[in-house]
Amino acid sequence: MAATIIDGKGFAGTIREQVAGHVARLKEDHGLTPGLAVVLVGEDPASQVYVRSKGKQTVECGMASFEHKLEADTSEADLLALIARLNADPAVHGILVQLPLPGHLDEDLVINAIDPAKDVDGFHISNVGLLATGQKSMVPCTPLGCLMLLRAHHGRLSGMNAVVIGRSNIVGKPMAQLLLGDSCTVTIAHSRTRDIQELCRRADIVVAAVGRAEMVTGDWIKPGATVIDVGINRIDAPEKGTGEDGRVKTRLVGDCEYDSCAAVAGAITPVPGGVGPMTIACLLANTVTACCRANGLAEPEGLTA
Ligand code: NDP
Repeated sequence: MAATIIDGKGFAGTIREQVAGHVARLKEDHGLTPGLAVVLVGEDPASQVYVRSKGKQTVECGMASFEHKLEADTSEADLLALIARLNADPAVHGILVQLPLPGHLDEDLVINAIDPAKDVDGFHISNVGLLATGQKSMVPCTPLGCLMLLRAHHGRLSGMNAVVIGRSNIVGKPMAQLLLGDSCTVTIAHSRTRDIQELCRRADIVVAAVGRAEMVTGDWIKPGATVIDVGINRIDAPEKGTGEDGRVKTRLVGDCEYDSCAAVAGAITPVPGGVGPMTIACLLANTVTACCRANGLAEPEGLTA
C-alpha cells in the first residue's frame, strides 16, 4: 500500500490560521499585538530569503514584525547592544538572530544574550536545559514542527521506537528530547554510528536530519514506519535542462530517497512541502506563546510541545 503523504504545507497553513485567530483575540480582548524582531547580520542570500519570508508571514498573521539588518562587519558589542534593547522593548515578544552569523561573531554568546523568554528559536542554553529536564521552555521550531506532524498523524507516540539521524543542536538533539518527552524509545544516530541501517529498520519513526541528499533508502525502513525528512538539499537536475546562465537546473531533495522510502513506509513527509513550511509556522506559534507567557495569559492550545 502506498505511504500516506504527510502534508506539512497544508498543516502549516492550519497552524498559521490558528495563530492569526489567537492574535486577533489578543488584540480584541487585551489590546496586545505580538511582535517578532528578526536580526540579520550580513548579506547571505539564503538568510535574506528566510528573513523576508518570516517577516511577510508574521505580518500576514496580524503580528508586528521588526527587521534589523546590520552590516556584515557589525561589531559584537553593537549586536549585543541591539539585543539588549530588544530584550527591554515591551512591544517585542520574540527575538530571532538569523544564523549563521559572520565568523567574527560568537554565536553562542549572541544567542545566550537573548532573554530566554523571548528566545523563539529555543536555542538559549536555559531553554535547552528546560527542554532536557521536561520543563516548560521555548522549543526549537523545526523539531516542534516535526513533533506536531507526528502527533497529528499518530495521535499518541508513547512506546514507539524512534531513530533520529543527526545530533545537531538545532534539529537532532531537541528532536530526540521531544520524542522522549512523548515517551518514545529514542536512538540518536550520527556520523560515527555503526549499523545505522539496521537501527532504522527497527524503528517505528525515522527522523532524518543529516544534510546528505537521499542518504536514507527504502531498504532502511521498516514496512509501515513513519519517515520524517528534515533535510533540504539542492542537487543537479539535468532532466530539467539548463537555465539562462547556462548552468544545469537544480531541484530540492531531502535526506531520504523519496520513492523507495514511500514504497515501504506507512507515512512520509515530502521535500519540499513537508517539514520545511512547518518551521516558520512554529516560529509564529512560538511568538504568540511568548506573548501570552509575558502577559500572564493562558497559552494557545496545540501550538506548543
Ligand atoms: P548539521 O550539519 O548541523 O548536522 C548534521 C548531522 O548529521 C550531524 O549530527 C552529523 O553527525 C550527522 N551526519 C552527517 N553525515 C552522516 C552520515 N553519513 N550518517 C549519519 N549521520 C550523519 O545539520 P542540521 O541539523 O542543521 O540540518 C540537517 C538537515 O536539515 C540539513 O539538510 C538542513 O538543511 C536541514 N534543515 C531543515 C530545516 C527545515 O526547516 N526543514 C531547518 C534546519 C535544517 P556528526 O555530529 O557525527 O557530525
